[in-house]
Formats: sequence, structure tokens, C-alpha cells
Amino acid sequence: MGAIRANLQAVTLRVARAAQAAGRDPQTVRLLAVSKTHPAAFVDEAYHAGQVAFGENYVQEALAKMTALAQLPIEWHLIGPLQSNKTRVVAERFAWVQSVESERVARRLDAQRPAALPPLNVLLQVNISGEASKSGVAPEALPGLARAVAAMPRLRLRGLMAIPEPTRDAGLQRARFRAVRELADRLRADGLDLDTLSLGMSDDLEAAIAEGATLVRIGTAIFGLRKDAAAASQAGERDRDHAAEIHS
Ligand SMILES: *Cc1c(COP(=O)(O)O)cnc(C)c1O
Repeated sequence: MGAIRANLQAVTLRVARAAQAAGRDPQTVRLLAVSKTHPAAFVDEAYHAGQVAFGENYVQEALAKMTALAQLPIEWHLIGPLQSNKTRVVAERFAWVQSVESERVARRLDAQRPAALPPLNVLLQVNISGEASKSGVAPEALPGLARAVAAMPRLRLRGLMAIPEPTRDAGLQRARFRAVRELADRLRADGLDLDTLSLGMSDDLEAAIAEGATLVRIGTAIFGLRKDAAAASQAGERDRDHAAEIHS
């Protein structure tokens, strides 16, 4: 059995166990395979092992893989920062954008989503780490942005995404994920129809599922260490934990 297929099975089992431990139906948690920096051949292998949804961070890199794998009905998600000069191609080629954090970018996506396609699925990226992260909308600005995006006809607002600063403190992990879920709960109470909480990566998917994640974004546990991350994960881990504690 190929390594990617085996890894997918192992991750699927982790997801199922985490869901069961939280008293949730494992079917309520979707797996997004994050293929950034990995070749199209890896995506192809994962697709043939049954994985349909893939996440990419960099638009140009994603387009190259989409072209290479055009014959496969893959569901592509953009999970990396989106600049407004890239919105047209994103509106044309992706099924989901998880990293919307401004009304300006949302308006462009709405205007540029082709009429022949279904509305673009959108998640608003929330900054719950404060100064430790420059990405995402501040919680105070979220309700206004959510109302604006929900009214855009060519976008379908599905929920929230967040990338908390990494920490090994399980209690802190859960507290941060819970904060995002509570923001989503408040938007729902205000009448927005949200069904997606994109929380959790290879190292913290259990905590995310315990706090209500419906979509986990998994790269390393499926495809192995990324070249750029292999060195950084050893050198940076202590520093990142330290930074996370300072900013929490
Ligand atoms: C890279 C990335 C992931 C996957 O991270 P792993 O730790 O490799 O599972 C998930 N979400 C986002 C936004 C990413 O950039």
C-alpha cells in the first residue's frame, strides 16, 4: 500500500476517534488534504485513495496542479492569503475560499464568479491570536463582514476558518478553537446560516474536533513534512510555543 493511502487511513481513523470521544458522528467532520508544496502526483495518489477535497495556499502553484489534474473532479479550496489582484482566477477556478478577511476581496470574488458556476463557497478567516498573527478579521469586525458577505449573491457564506498560533498546551488549543465556535454561534443566533467550522491541522485535529470543527485541514499527516517545514519545525517549535504564550 502506498504511503499516502496508509496516511489517509490513519488520519481518517484519528478523525473518527476524536469525533466519537466528543460524542459526535464522524460523518460530520470532513477531511481537507492540504497539498501545498507537494507535487501533483501526490494529489493524484490521494485522489485515487478516495480523497476529493484539497487545499492549496499559493494561487500560482494551485493553478499548475489544477491544469495537470484537470481530468479529476477535485474540489479545490484556497486556504492561503488572497490578494485582490488574484481574485479573478480564484473566482473562476476554486470551489471554496477559506481565507476571506476583507469586504473588498469578497466584493471582487462576488463580481468575478462566473454565472455558469454555483456560488463560491466562502469562509471568513478570523484572527483569534491577536498581535501574534496578521491574518484574519478581528473578532470585533467579524459580524459586519459576515453580514456583508452573506448578502453577496455569487458567494455562499458557509462559516469560519482560523489558524491559532501553535501550542502544545492542550487546554489553550481547545480554548482558542472554542472561541471561534462561539463567534460562529453568535452569528447563527443573529440569523446567518453557517454550517462549516474549519479548525484543526495535523498536530491539533483532536482538540479542534472536540470543539466542533466540521472540516480539518491536514497536510503533514497525509503527505509528510514539507521541505520548508522540515528544518523550521525543529528550530522553531520552542520559539513558537513561547510566542504563543506571550500573546495569549
Ligand atoms: C499548511 C496549512 C495546513 C496544514 O498544516 P499541517 O500542520 O501540515 O497539517 C492547514 N491550514 C493552513 C491554512 C495551512 O497553511
